[in-house]
Amino acid sequence: METTALWHSQARMGTVKSSERVIARGEGAYVWDEEGNRLLDVPASLWYCNIGHGRAELAEAAARQMRTLAAYSNFQQFTSRPSLELAERLVAIAPVENAKVFLGSGGSDMVDFAAKLARRTWQLRGETQRLTIVTREQSYHGLHGFGTSIGGLAANRAGYGPLIEDTARVPHDDAEALERLVRDRGAETIAAFFCEPVIGTGGVHPPGEGYLRRVEEICRAHGIVFVVDEVITGFGRAGEMFASDRFGIRPDILLTAKGITSGYAPLGAAMVAAPLWEPFWDDGAELTFHHGLTYSGHATACAVAMANIDVLEREELAARVRALEPKLARTLGQLRDDPRVAEMRGGIGLLGAVQLRDPAWGPRVAAECIANGVLMRVIEGGALQVSPPFVVDEDDIDLIGAVIADALEALPLEMPLGAASLPQPSSQ
Ligand code: PLP
Repeated sequence: METTALWHSQARMGTVKSSERVIARGEGAYVWDEEGNRLLDVPASLWYCNIGHGRAELAEAAARQMRTLAAYSNFQQFTSRPSLELAERLVAIAPVENAKVFLGSGGSDMVDFAAKLARRTWQLRGETQRLTIVTREQSYHGLHGFGTSIGGLAANRAGYGPLIEDTARVPHDDAEALERLVRDRGAETIAAFFCEPVIGTGGVHPPGEGYLRRVEEICRAHGIVFVVDEVITGFGRAGEMFASDRFGIRPDILLTAKGITSGYAPLGAAMVAAPLWEPFWDDGAELTFHHGLTYSGHATACAVAMANIDVLEREELAARVRALEPKLARTLGQLRDDPRVAEMRGGIGLLGAVQLRDPAWGPRVAAECIANGVLMRVIEGGALQVSPPFVVDEDDIDLIGAVIADALEALPLEMPLGAASLPQPSSQ
């Protein structure tokens, strides 16, 4: 019998409709469901709750702004003070030279923005064949039109008929594959290369040594727009405010969302380097970039973002992530010896994945973890997603390791799984 009117994201509603779990409140690294169960929020909801749950100062920032002016459009000459202030603040901290900032409601918005800006730029420059957007296998860039079309997870592209044309994918840790693709297709056909510094949804794949600097060099050598999607890694998750800083790269366009507000309000931001914004800002230019969203620069979301960045900076949470990084890697590394574990990935910031030998085991292991007070999500390929809020402590990390170990122990080694009634691995 159906019990809900809500159509969940990336869900088999046939099984979810009668097994919803309602998360009712949160405090720090923990959430409580409506039955009163306390759960360690290991995925930080959807990778976003960087500063932890229940921060009153963000609620107060939102309430203050809502009482003054909840929102105002930034179409044409209009805008609001929080949008202007947030843009200034992002320019000051982003690893993008002389940046301008475009705002939206989330990550997929910013992916569409970047893909359109890259293509528009080449049309303006007269290189009209530069259309192809290159991404990596296993990549995830959201689920708007462009994100769906360029993403590296096949399940998200399947079943719609033709998507946006002129996309290509290369293996995710092979810079030479990008070089070959550029040579084979011709640089004059390639508009942009998108990459996540650490692939998130596709299973947590950190880059190989030197990979990101090498792909940046290839982009520079061939004039390809270098788009770095920091929707997950931005705002501290990789142990620096931006992963681009950690890996020594300079994006032409840097995309953020999630951690920009830690999820207290929906917001996305793209930081754009001068060669891409200049044609549209020139005094004499008649040019309009025909893009924008009703909630671009939403005043309350921007006020919340600034309060969130205040917390990140005041509590030095990126440094805390860096300090906890070895502890998380060690704790998850101990699971490697379990015969049910194929591999442990991570070692960058508070990002990890425990890859199970049989992807079908994921839902059963996650359910066991949840039953033992540790909220767990299964991502691409049957991996357990580990990306807790930055306020976790060493005991919390020990708890994650111990509960996963027990859940694995409870799994018969040869198991016909019949997991149809359990939550399925997610392509988000
Ligand atoms: N890009 C990356 C790397 C992401 O991980 C996500 C979401 O998980 C997105 C883009 C899309 O963001 P949103 O879901 O806010 O649209």
